[in-house]
Amino acid sequence: MSQESRSDYSEGDLRKTGMALKHERTWDYELDRIVEAVEERGAEKVGLQFPEGLKRRAPHVADDLRELLPEGTRVLISGQPCYGACDLDTYMMRRTDVFVHFGHSPMKESDKIIYVPLFSNVEVEPIMQESLAELSDPEEDPHVGLVTTAQHMNKFEEMKAWLGDRGYEVHTRRGDDRLTHEGQVLGCNYASADIDADQVLYVGGGKFHPLGLAMEHPEKTVVIADPVNNVVTVADTEKFLKQRYGAVHRAMDAETWGVVFCTKIGQGRWEVANDIVENNENAYLLTMDEVTPDRLTQFGFDAYVNTGCPRITTDDGPQFKQPMLTPGEYQIAVGEEPLDSLSFDTFHGTW
Ligand code: SF4
Repeated sequence: MSQESRSDYSEGDLRKTGMALKHERTWDYELDRIVEAVEERGAEKVGLQFPEGLKRRAPHVADDLRELLPEGTRVLISGQPCYGACDLDTYMMRRTDVFVHFGHSPMKESDKIIYVPLFSNVEVEPIMQESLAELSDPEEDPHVGLVTTAQHMNKFEEMKAWLGDRGYEVHTRRGDDRLTHEGQVLGCNYASADIDADQVLYVGGGKFHPLGLAMEHPEKTVVIADPVNNVVTVADTEKFLKQRYGAVHRAMDAETWGVVFCTKIGQGRWEVANDIVENNENAYLLTMDEVTPDRLTQFGFDAYVNTGCPRITTDDGPQFKQPMLTPGEYQIAVGEEPLDSLSFDTFHGTW
């Protein structure tokens, strides 16, 4: 996990994970829906925003779209980094008539934005079949929670029915406002796993989501059925916890702190950031959109707290020269909370 850079991940796992992909994926860009919206609104400028893993497809999609759009319609491509629906290019949004955000489900609906989720076409049943080896025998414990990422949401009913057919009682719920669908999880929100079952089946790519889930719900067994890489594993938080405790320990001697307030539309936690600087005269508030090692190094603080996307802190943390903590970890490092209160950093609500 810590070896991956942010260019490797995107909410919805539109990326390679380092393992060989067993399934080729193609995406439906829903160009007809975009053209319809452009015509309906008489739009002259259309903005396109792609997640990192699909940026190289952007020129082709723009070409295909231009062929379908009324003559003279301008198509613009956002060059801003994009890792989730929390990460809308607001500059482009204000300057285009139709703004298309690919690869994520809506965090907040707006007339101006067309969200094209890019559902995966990967079959989930074969990997679910394998996951049975890690789930309880339904005759002993039939209760199982089911969660997935936005990318596989198109198969959610199928997954539920499949487990039901095998004798399981499937527990699902919709999390909070940050999530569009029942059973959907984000790298920063696992509210949909607040269900009454001791085991949760996560169907989706990558390990970050199930790890977060296991941290957030330590009392549950989290079985990972990854249909993209064709592997079944059980989430193990030990390595992750070690890495986080390591960062907290390194930050304990820090005299000066940089507290990052992220200006991305869906990542701002002003009160959290402000609270820290108000109560620590050696803490300084830094505002930025992308949080990268290069951008922080010049400030020379002893340690940093990131109130933006928790994945940056936990996935990329080891790449930062100084320790980078989540707000909860900061409280431990400065002695406000005990060591064993370490938990996963989650986000709730939208903006
Ligand atoms: S803030 Fe949440 S939704 Fe946004 S990129 Fe991070 S984990 Fe994903």
